[in-house]
Amino acid sequence: MPCKFCELSPVIKLQNNITLCKSCFTKYFERKTFKTIKQFNLIEKGDHIVAACSGGKDSLSLLYLLNKLANKKIDISITALLIDEGIKGYRDKSIEDAKKFCEENNIKLHIASYKNNLSKTLDEMKTKFKDTIACSMCGVFRRSLLNKTSRELGANKLATGHNLDDEAQSILMNQFRHNIALSARLGPKTGVKRDPRFIPRIKPFYFLTEKEVATYAFLKGLVSKFNECTYCEESYRFEIRDLLNNIEEKYPGTKHSIVASFIETLPILKEKFKNQEISSCKICKEPSSSEICNVCTLIKKMV
Ligand code: SF4
Ligand code: ZN
Repeated sequence: MPCKFCELSPVIKLQNNITLCKSCFTKYFERKTFKTIKQFNLIEKGDHIVAACSGGKDSLSLLYLLNKLANKKIDISITALLIDEGIKGYRDKSIEDAKKFCEENNIKLHIASYKNNLSKTLDEMKTKFKDTIACSMCGVFRRSLLNKTSRELGANKLATGHNLDDEAQSILMNQFRHNIALSARLGPKTGVKRDPRFIPRIKPFYFLTEKEVATYAFLKGLVSKFNECTYCEESYRFEIRDLLNNIEEKYPGTKHSIVASFIETLPILKEKFKNQEISSCKICKEPSSSEICNVCTLIKKMV
């Protein structure tokens, strides 16, 4: 089937069976991103946005588009922030891609590493704690370091390349684990109430699928190959991703439905958890809902 709009050869078939050529798909992708930004008021004049950058397809597409906005003389500034977990054979490669991209596009890149901030790389932690799933440590450390470093860099927003697949996975994971309070923090713009210690997160690719982001990144020449973390197969998310992909194949539109249903219930969830007290961790003084935050709890276990 040719492109729905111009009859050229297609590069992608969307979930609703519409096929698009390179040029029409690029327009569709950018329009959908900017529509999400507008609809959820993700970006305002004067914003200093730190964009989480892993050097992969999602984050480079995000940086590319945010930079495009900044160059349009909309009054925003962009800094890329890369978290170096210290994963040999994976992160070291993507750091090079991120550095190259930022240099070519004149974007400031800041690198925060587990080694400097937590005294160990993820590989070292994993060697010492063989039975601990890498992602359960890594996720806690990365979230905290992204927030803390964005705050130190003076940002008022933290943009991430999360796509529709990521969000559908998070919704299901929280549901399966009865972690509804965590779901209240999801959505295109996170945060239940304003707290200066938390930098609000924005997700401009919220309604775009992983396949769409990957296609965009390839077509724009932002990445040449996909690189997956060596530990990803250990994770619960990996299982949920497989499960969702299988259901999506049989019942197209499932991921969109999960996210669309969630968006309808999100205001109720935010209302329910709006009075949840966030105090400060007794050890590191970072925001925490318990006396000692998850980062310090994990660090204590490691010494
Ligand atoms: Fe960290 Fe897991 Fe992601 Fe690898 S897959 S970077 S270990 S969270
Ligand atoms: Zn702490």
